[in-house]
Amino acid sequence: MTPPPHTLHRLRSRHNYLNAFNHRIDTGADPSCRFRCEAIENSQHIMIDCPKNELARTQLRRLTTINKIPMDVETLTGLNSSIDTKKQFAIRN
Ligand SMILES: [Zn+2]
Repeated sequence: MTPPPHTLHRLRSRHNYLNAFNHRIDTGADPSCRFRCEAIENSQHIMIDCPKNELARTQLRRLTTINKIPMDVETLTGLNSSIDTKKQFAIRN
């Protein structure tokens, strides 16, 4: 399933709905992960580290392993320009 374009854009720009960003505009807001991890909820945490999203990550992990590309925020949000367009589309989808 293709994510709505604004989701990818928001993850790239770091202006997103994650708690780390909320905390930047409202210092009273809790920046930690909504799933009660002891971690700051940012793109890195949600896309790569948070155990709560491990299941959703399985297919991406398979794709990055098969294609020998890094499983990191830059790659998953389409900002790793060393990856060819065909693989970029596969990741996005
Ligand atoms: Zn978490």
